[in-house]
Amino acid sequence: MPRSLDPELRRALAARIRYYNELGIYDFYRRETLGEVATVAAEAAGADAVTAPIQPESREEMNPRKAAAVAAPVAVEENIFEVLAPKPEQGVSDPAKALKIIRKDLGDCTRCPLHKQGRKQIVFGVGNAAAELMFVGEGPGADEDEQGEPFVGRAGQLLNNMIKAMGLKRGQVYIANVVKCRPPGNRTPEREECETCSPFLMRQIAVIKPKVVVALGAVAAKNLLAMNASMAQLRGRFYDFRPTGVRSSDPTWDGCKLAVTYHPAFLLRDPRQKAEAWKDLQMVMKELGLRAPKSIT
Ligand code: SF4
Repeated sequence: MPRSLDPELRRALAARIRYYNELGIYDFYRRETLGEVATVAAEAAGADAVTAPIQPESREEMNPRKAAAVAAPVAVEENIFEVLAPKPEQGVSDPAKALKIIRKDLGDCTRCPLHKQGRKQIVFGVGNAAAELMFVGEGPGADEDEQGEPFVGRAGQLLNNMIKAMGLKRGQVYIANVVKCRPPGNRTPEREECETCSPFLMRQIAVIKPKVVVALGAVAAKNLLAMNASMAQLRGRFYDFRPTGVRSSDPTWDGCKLAVTYHPAFLLRDPRQKAEAWKDLQMVMKELGLRAPKSIT
């Protein structure tokens, strides 16, 4: 795809490919020239192309005015090569091996600006490669950057308590983030950083094949669901979720449920919301058939 391709056209093409992915169509044939492909795709996308303006990213509960905004699709500009290219882990049935292949493919990544903003190491993800439950946060913090593992600081301790309250052990679930390198000063990752890094998360989800993904916080939720809404609007229900741009090697896995709850770091700042988070987790437990009479401490 020529680099000079109009950004609107790229968005329209990516949206159309995502639409076909959601219908279960992954194989595409290219015409003689890429220009023709772009033209055909643009014609096909037509007025349906997603062109909604990007709303500012927000963490956790925003002010009521922002929260009143209706959930709208976000125009996610994707790397079309990533969408079309076959993934090296496809066909590998062992999820642990497949995750290693993804990690190797990620390499000493310099794909987005976060590689040169003080990261000590890439924080890929941790846990059971065949987990039924997966937690996805926003990005590594200082402790995670230091130790190379997601959710190991104070927020990680609280996440551990949340997992324990569900009657599970940390090693039974899989934990990852939308971006794998620490944003400086724990700032919110930029859209470009999320879009560059999240295809690797999508591939992780496709090989783990969880029954439920829990998005921790607004940034994770918005990136996974490609929609812009407040936490109040996002929480309290399940979404049907299929990782974008990849297909699982297991044809019987047709996506999973996705729930949204508060990021543990937010719960540390506002412990009154723990009861609400516990409601979210109980909804997830019910879906997974788990029973545990505890609350988050
Ligand atoms: S955040 Fe992701 S895309 Fe960016 S440099 Fe790190 S691993 Fe690469």
